[in-house]
Amino acid sequence: MNLRSFLGGTHVPYSKESTASKPVRQARLPARVTIPLHQHTGAPCEPLVKAGDHVLVGQKIGDSPAKLTAPVHASVSGKVAAIGYYLQSGGRLVNSVVIESDGEQQLSPDVKPRGTIENLSPGDIVGIIRDAGIVGLGGAAFPTYFKLVPPPGKRFDTLVVNGSECEPYLTADHRIMLERPNDVTYGIRALMKAAGVDRAFLGIEDNKPDAIEAMRRAASGVPGIEVVVLATKYPQGAEKQLVKAILGREIPSGGLPVDVGVVVNNVGTAVAVAEALEKGMPLVERVVTVAGSCIREPQNLKVKIGTAIGDLIEECGGFVKEPAKVIIGGPMMGVAQFSTDVPVTKGTSGVLALSKDEVEVEDTSMPCVRCGKCVGACPMRLLPLFISQRAEAGRFDEAEEYNALDCIECGSCGYICPSRRPLVQAIRLAKSEIMARRRKKQ
Ligand code: SF4
Ligand code: SF4
Repeated sequence: MNLRSFLGGTHVPYSKESTASKPVRQARLPARVTIPLHQHTGAPCEPLVKAGDHVLVGQKIGDSPAKLTAPVHASVSGKVAAIGYYLQSGGRLVNSVVIESDGEQQLSPDVKPRGTIENLSPGDIVGIIRDAGIVGLGGAAFPTYFKLVPPPGKRFDTLVVNGSECEPYLTADHRIMLERPNDVTYGIRALMKAAGVDRAFLGIEDNKPDAIEAMRRAASGVPGIEVVVLATKYPQGAEKQLVKAILGREIPSGGLPVDVGVVVNNVGTAVAVAEALEKGMPLVERVVTVAGSCIREPQNLKVKIGTAIGDLIEECGGFVKEPAKVIIGGPMMGVAQFSTDVPVTKGTSGVLALSKDEVEVEDTSMPCVRCGKCVGACPMRLLPLFISQRAEAGRFDEAEEYNALDCIECGSCGYICPSRRPLVQAIRLAKSEIMARRRKKQ
């Protein structure tokens, strides 16, 4: 069968065996959570509570008047122990609300059903999604409400739902589709109404036949939703690649899915939308894959936002051996951590503790042999070797001419490179330098 796909990309090891068949388990209630007031693309929130306050589950604890932001809510009931700057993944210090759990999990009175898709208007649904602090759960953490309203002069005709989960190790979305297919479908219907479209395509890679079957069953009889089987290839879940594979539409350089009439959301996001409508529950927990050969008992856990990743590792039996790297996210696009005292945020899809055999830790980089493999692997059809060379030489204007800003940082080029060149790191440097120069000119 000729499965739908995109040009370029790589075939990375599956590495999902340890958690793919295990049902999602509710994680233990943590004694304290540290909830960052900035865990999304856009403006940070200001705290709405102060130290000493008692808060309830689902209570809004931070918001911002900015156009692009997402409110944050308490994931546990208890006392606000402190508000201050705490370490977050990526090494940033972020203003955060620390809550000591009282173990009661009392719900805020604001948490109540918000209506049905039928009796809510598209604007109502967008408002509920904003109120619930829902952001893209695939890892991008882009506020969902913002995506659903096209800019003036543009319109959507299609919703594309990402169920591909192409990163190795991660199985959270896979389990969500297996265990909550009706909630995924409900969320998709709500997103369709909010975006004003009457068709949605849910893309799932062919290495998840059980999820394909579960979702096909749940979507049968629901007008407008079609499950599309995609070739298993990394980075199939990236927005541009997904839209190309499913619809054959090319998002222009520097453009967004809306430029080709599409809005893209993840299956976990769809479930969060269903919970917001049906229960009025804001985004206060998410499914996280805890895996890697250094974890004693890999699992998918449903985790309160703000739980320290160290607590999750401990709940999975701790380390069987010293990890070479602890990563938040997948091994291709995730961020290596130097402390396990960082919290799970809305964008945390996985916590991986990988051994030396699973990651390249030594600096074994050799000169480029001009084999062109990185060019063939680049799903954005860039020339990674040239961009990285220019970046390493500090020639950022030239790197920009080679369209460095179109790089989606998928890591395919570095993965395939026989000389183990640190291509993505160099391209990332070029991107941040180009952006800094643009900001200066403004
Ligand atoms: S240049 Fe960027 S988009 Fe292309 S393969 Fe490398 S990391 Fe991916
Ligand atoms: S894959 Fe590596 S060695 Fe080959 S051309 Fe690209 S940078 Fe050079």
